[in-house]
Amino acid sequence: MSTEDPIIEIRGLTKRYGSLAAVDAVDLDIRRGEFFALLGPSGCGKTTLLRMIAGLEMPTGGTIRLEGNDVSAVPVNKRPVNMVFQSYAVFPHMSVLDNVGYGLRIAGVTREETRHRAEEALALVKLAGYGARRPDQLSGGQRQRVALARALVKQPKVLLLDEPLSALDAKLREQMRLELVNLQDSVGITFVIVTHDQSEALSMADRIAVMDAGQVRQVAPPAELYEFPANRFVADFIGSVNLIEGQVESCDAGIVTLSCPDLPAPVVIRQQVTYATGTTAWLALRPEKIDITHEPDGDGTSNLAHGVVEEITYLGETSVYHVRVAPDVPLIKVSSANLDRVTRRRFTWGDNVHLSWTSECGVVLDR
Ligand code: ATP
Repeated sequence: MSTEDPIIEIRGLTKRYGSLAAVDAVDLDIRRGEFFALLGPSGCGKTTLLRMIAGLEMPTGGTIRLEGNDVSAVPVNKRPVNMVFQSYAVFPHMSVLDNVGYGLRIAGVTREETRHRAEEALALVKLAGYGARRPDQLSGGQRQRVALARALVKQPKVLLLDEPLSALDAKLREQMRLELVNLQDSVGITFVIVTHDQSEALSMADRIAVMDAGQVRQVAPPAELYEFPANRFVADFIGSVNLIEGQVESCDAGIVTLSCPDLPAPVVIRQQVTYATGTTAWLALRPEKIDITHEPDGDGTSNLAHGVVEEITYLGETSVYHVRVAPDVPLIKVSSANLDRVTRRRFTWGDNVHLSWTSECGVVLDR
């Protein structure tokens, strides 16, 4: 369970490599006990940010506070954090138990206590009884759990995980997601995970920071990121989205009206924002929130489009229909659940279709 109280406070954190700002003036609070994810495309700076928290990389500017103390000058081994790496490096010649206890032995903990704590850590990751094995006698998933046990055994205040599941195959990765969440819940340690896999972040994290080009674009719980993205980058990066450009006609009492040159009627969205009339804005509309029909649907005065099905993507549980509503603009994607076991699709190539959505669907974004 997380509290509002931040365990990590990051202010103006910057890391430059020559002229490139890999991390660019980032402000971020990570709460005590939360499962926090840094998510973003390759090269956005998430690993660099994590490595600065660990002390493996020195910032060019800004501060990192851990429990209120500035740790900028504190060396790696003196920080109350521990890191699990992408390639879960374990010593191949040591037993599992010795691997897990290694850090404690180095720190001068007695042999007996080391053994006791290493066994406890192995039990936490469901590897009780595996202590005598060598790493090559374990599966990939089990080796990853040894790496986790080794990081947890020192009882860090924060555990940093850099793409911890990326070396595992898809099935195992999904299973390990759940195990990581349960583990974090039982140890109560703050977890900060780096991933470029949005489904991983959405399924595991309490809150996610979406990064792009060294900057944090939005920090929010998974459902809020998906339903209320703050900008087009986040709307597009998380899940699938249609972005339809227009101009704000009015914005009053929680209702935004947008006129879009490619749509035959105004867009009316219920949303608490203050946009000036005439502002260029985009309707961000998720494919599953659009209704697709052969005949016109709704009241016919707003939130509608019509066009022709140009492409179909069959995904098993859903089909995505790509609908052309105007020449030279992106096709509108509509996903529709395949509820019946039908071999014929509801719509086919070349069908004239009508699209509609309610004022509770989608958000209007001005950037
Ligand atoms: P990935 O998911 O691919 O690991 P990332 O979001 O973790 O990406 P970083 O590894 O933090 O990204 O890198 C951010 C940027 O900084 C990239 O453009 C990268 O090329 C650059 N960078 C990272 N480390 C160095 C370095 N030691 N020297 C020069 N540039 C670097």
